[in-house]
Amino acid sequence: MDNLHTEINRRPYIRRTEKELSEEAVAMWKKHLERDDSRIVDLFSGQLRSSLHCSVCSHYSNTFDVFCDLSLPIPKRSSAGEVSLRECLDLFSQEEKLDKENSPMCERCNRRTECTKRLSIQRFPQVIVIHLNRFTTARWSISKSTVYVSFPLTNLDLGHYGPADCGPVLYDLYAICNHAGTVNMGHYTACCSDDDGWCFYNDSSVTPVSENQLQTNQAYVLFYQRSNSAATVRK
Ligand SMILES: [Zn+2]
Repeated sequence: MDNLHTEINRRPYIRRTEKELSEEAVAMWKKHLERDDSRIVDLFSGQLRSSLHCSVCSHYSNTFDVFCDLSLPIPKRSSAGEVSLRECLDLFSQEEKLDKENSPMCERCNRRTECTKRLSIQRFPQVIVIHLNRFTTARWSISKSTVYVSFPLTNLDLGHYGPADCGPVLYDLYAICNHAGTVNMGHYTACCSDDDGWCFYNDSSVTPVSENQLQTNQAYVLFYQRSNSAATVRK
């Protein structure tokens, strides 16, 4: 009956406009601030949009979730080459096919259907924390990827992953958290920039470091600060 109804439904499906969706996102954000409002939210919180497209009835549904970091997959390479941060971002925002078992309920079909899912950034935070997901869990084990991921120190443009008309959204790197070692035994260090340049923090030792030493295959979490238009902190 569900299938028959879907096929002969008299109500046409109307896709909501970008303007309606962005109004909904703003309303959701305001609701979030009613419960959670701190300096941390001002600086680090953004909004992620998940768009689902049902393959049966073509219904689009959108959900908005607050995020404090982006966890990016690292593309798998057959040869041990390097990948770029952009390739990780592309993989993160790439349309993904979900089969029935893994998809949420379609609002219109009222059942689980095959669908496609796409993630994008609806609201950009002042500071974006990018987690390079080096650890992958297989059935019985966890493994660590030590692939070299290149990333820009300045002018990382995330506009491509935002709303259609958002234009360039630029970020500059100000800190890196590194993970050395293996799954079982690791050690964290950090690189942070201040007015005098970059420093390397390793337990109790702090040493100056040059820009060309920042990119290593141990880079694990990247901290980028918005460099253009700060007007979006609280709207
Ligand atoms: Zn559907």
